[in-house]
Amino acid sequence: MTLHEVLKNKEWRMDRMSDLAEQFPQQTLVSVKLNIPGPMKNNLRFQEIFLSIWPDLTKKSEFQSLFIERETGPEGFLICLDQPQRVKQDMIQIEENRPLGRLFDLDVYDESGNQISRSDLGKSARKCFVCATPAKECARSQRHSKAEISAAINKICEGYFENK
Ligand SMILES: [Zn+2]
Repeated sequence: MTLHEVLKNKEWRMDRMSDLAEQFPQQTLVSVKLNIPGPMKNNLRFQEIFLSIWPDLTKKSEFQSLFIERETGPEGFLICLDQPQRVKQDMIQIEENRPLGRLFDLDVYDESGNQISRSDLGKSARKCFVCATPAKECARSQRHSKAEISAAINKICEGYFENK
């Protein structure tokens, strides 16, 4: 996958989100995606990872959830009735406490389309799961090689799927 495809997919995601915001103007919107820094090819393992948490996420969305398999990887959207800060709180819990939570980006938007940040809730920025740098920096600079990223993912998943 090229950087171009990643950027194209970002556009696609923004479009989906503005469609959903139009359809559900009063609700809290969550974008669910894997938090993989840089262009990695979608594969079966990514789908397994995504689906390990997705059923729990859909329970958090009393309203509607949408799962889409993209060439760039699985993506999901949740429409929630709860206050955005509350939803964000729940999502941070999942990111931090679930065995594979570190591999997810659970971005929460209020009814005006503003993203609720971790710092809004007094939390520090997320760290990259490969190194300890803030995740955004590694994603932006594509600091890690595919091999490095794969190794880190395998380590996080180690034991998880085997014990299922
Ligand atoms: Zn990193």
